Amino acid sequence: MSEPLFDTLAIIGPGLIGSSIARAARAQGAVRTIVTSSRSPQTRQRVTELGIADKVVETNAEAVEDADLVIVCVPVGVCGAVAEEIAPRLKEGTIVSDVGSVKGAIVRDMGPHLPGNVHFVPAHPVAGTEHSGPDAGFAELFDGRWCILTPPEATDGEAVKRLAAFWSLLGANVEVMTPDHHDLVLAITSHLPHLIAYTIVGTADELETVTRSEVLKFSAGGFRDFTRIAASDPTMWRDIFLANKEAVLEMLGRFNEDVSALTKAIRHGDGDALFEQFTRTRAIRRGIIDLGQDTADPDFGRPHGHGD
Ligand code: NAP
Repeated sequence: MSEPLFDTLAIIGPGLIGSSIARAARAQGAVRTIVTSSRSPQTRQRVTELGIADKVVETNAEAVEDADLVIVCVPVGVCGAVAEEIAPRLKEGTIVSDVGSVKGAIVRDMGPHLPGNVHFVPAHPVAGTEHSGPDAGFAELFDGRWCILTPPEATDGEAVKRLAAFWSLLGANVEVMTPDHHDLVLAITSHLPHLIAYTIVGTADELETVTRSEVLKFSAGGFRDFTRIAASDPTMWRDIFLANKEAVLEMLGRFNEDVSALTKAIRHGDGDALFEQFTRTRAIRRGIIDLGQDTADPDFGRPHGHGD
């Protein structure tokens, strides 16, 4: 095991992502001490029982006072309030990061609260499942997945390198980009697919001529994959759509145009147009498998299947 990269890591919000970071950091010996905070007594008790942190405290401010790395792992909509709460207790030189699935809003909401003597390096590990809470986390979640860092322009390069080293040790591949570019990329690769899944599962539920039991029974025809994505946490996804409004609307506009083109092809019996589109998309699927971001196996029994 390597020398720890940080002395004390504070995880604010030990849910799926926060508890996975704690587990992975401990498994890799990335830090000496892990402190975590949660607002709810149930979560604090469960985290204590699971033994994934050295210290479990009630307030976020208390959690950060000795930390040299703070990772905020709460829904995007509350990151600003958490930054405001922890700001007065941060040590000089501490790296403050997060895991939010949207980055422009995080920079806007957290940045202004943080003192000038800490390093703010927002991050998004593109890895996850549809489950929530400390029991859902596991140390291997980030293996071979990407973690995108979006440091504001003036950020100290050394701090970015240290956080990149931390994520690499947890098994992730690291890439750096601007918050706006991140939000555009994730709008098409994650946010729009979730919106489509939420829509299609809702549409199926409202059908009158096909019963709900038939939808469930014959779900292996494709519907089942949408239901997994549509089971994702409602709070988290509400916040993502509110926070990444512009990029999602841009991608949704393009998507609607493409759906209209396919609608037209079906209406006019234009088999060539359909075949050409489906051939193009098949190649994209093969590309994802070649990049090691999924396997060609069917997903029966897979413990986790998507990231956002
Ligand atoms: P989660 O399992 O539901 O955990 C969320 C944590 O935040 C819990 O510890 C929860 O505390 C705490 N929390 C919720 N609302 C809060 C509030 N108002 N004030 C203070 N703490 C609050 O969620 P998650 O999936 O780990 O997601 C956390 C972050 O990771 C989100 O920003 C999300 O965008 C990002 N992310 C998620 C995924 C994914 O696939 N799930 C992937 C990458 C990034 P309690 O236990 O007390 O409720």
